[in-house]
Amino acid sequence: MNPETLYYIILAVIVLDFLIDKVLNHLNAKHFDDPVPRELDDVYDDEAYQKSQRYKKERYRFGVISSSFSLALTLGFIILDGFPWVDGIARSISDNPIWIALIFFGIIMLGSDLLTTPFSWYSTFVIEEKYGFNKTTKKTFWLDKLKGWLMMSLIGGAILAVLVWFYDFAGDGFWWYALVVMALSAVFINMFYARLIVPIFNKQTPLEEGSLRNKIESYAQSVGFKLDNIFVIDGSKRSTKANAYFSGFGSEKRITLFDTLINDLEEEEIVAVLAHEVGHYKKKHIIVNLTVSILTTGFTLWLLSLFVGSPVLSQALGVEIPSFHVGLVAFGILYSPISELTGLIMNLISRKFEYQADDFARETYSAQPLISGLKKLSGNNLSNLTPHKAYVFIHYSHPPLLQRYRNLTRA
Ligand SMILES: [Zn+2]
Repeated sequence: MNPETLYYIILAVIVLDFLIDKVLNHLNAKHFDDPVPRELDDVYDDEAYQKSQRYKKERYRFGVISSSFSLALTLGFIILDGFPWVDGIARSISDNPIWIALIFFGIIMLGSDLLTTPFSWYSTFVIEEKYGFNKTTKKTFWLDKLKGWLMMSLIGGAILAVLVWFYDFAGDGFWWYALVVMALSAVFINMFYARLIVPIFNKQTPLEEGSLRNKIESYAQSVGFKLDNIFVIDGSKRSTKANAYFSGFGSEKRITLFDTLINDLEEEEIVAVLAHEVGHYKKKHIIVNLTVSILTTGFTLWLLSLFVGSPVLSQALGVEIPSFHVGLVAFGILYSPISELTGLIMNLISRKFEYQADDFARETYSAQPLISGLKKLSGNNLSNLTPHKAYVFIHYSHPPLLQRYRNLTRA
């Protein structure tokens, strides 16, 4: 294939990807005003419902504007030969392929992050603020940015450096080495996420003694789940939105509750949410997810190894000297339809797992507090109660509230 054809294919992939996403979002937005299902009519009172309608519509409009800006930025950068320009800068600083790749991606990531910062600022301090969700201070916002960049350059930079290095000495066979390193780091990060990553952004404290802890412990004991680590995280530092999650495995496994969850929900509801999380662990979802994501990474790397050596990839983006890092960018764009597909499959599996975890909570604890807990969370987050089927099919990692309600109340 000649570089020019590939250039147009790359542009077409970007535009199509954008258009499909816009159509889906539009479909979803058309159903914002659908009547709320009878089973969920206690999620909102009139005032809260009106507020949720305004919130969804504002978020939708903001999504259209910010994604259009990103599209224009990406297309503009490619058409105006941004890649050869940045590649030239990187090559004028170093002639080591690892450093060139690091500088190249460093400039692109930092540049695009800075250019999109006004959007995340507006999202946090205008939209979320207006609906009473935002608790982030300006200082926290900037500190988060700095920490994010630092983490990105350490973890992302290390992975990139290793990839380029492997490619340098192993050629097309690099993907095997890369897979081993990436699989090990995925397991490591998953295992020590709570110990290494979370403390950079949040404070975690063990759940204090008292009736909630007693209820949780007696539940955990009843299902034979050894739970030494129950932590409370200061989610309220950034937002009023509540959450709970499970992380790590073996001796590192722990359940983390947002302080906002503890404030919003009754104790029985919190235990039910926790029973759902224990369900994920007991049903081996954590291990399956990790395995699937390592297999997907392996597939991606293998596919990358077939194409990245071809100079056409770099030339399609206007870069004359073929290189691994520019090939990686072109490959990343061309791969996006496949990653949409693998993402869709992952969401399909994830929604199935959510039902299984709900079933586990229902069987080992009780369905009622889980239902009322989920309803409160949806209400407090101003969630969309009438999402469109196609949108759910592609984007939702959790089934919509109505489906979960029906599953939890089925005879
Ligand atoms: Zn879940």
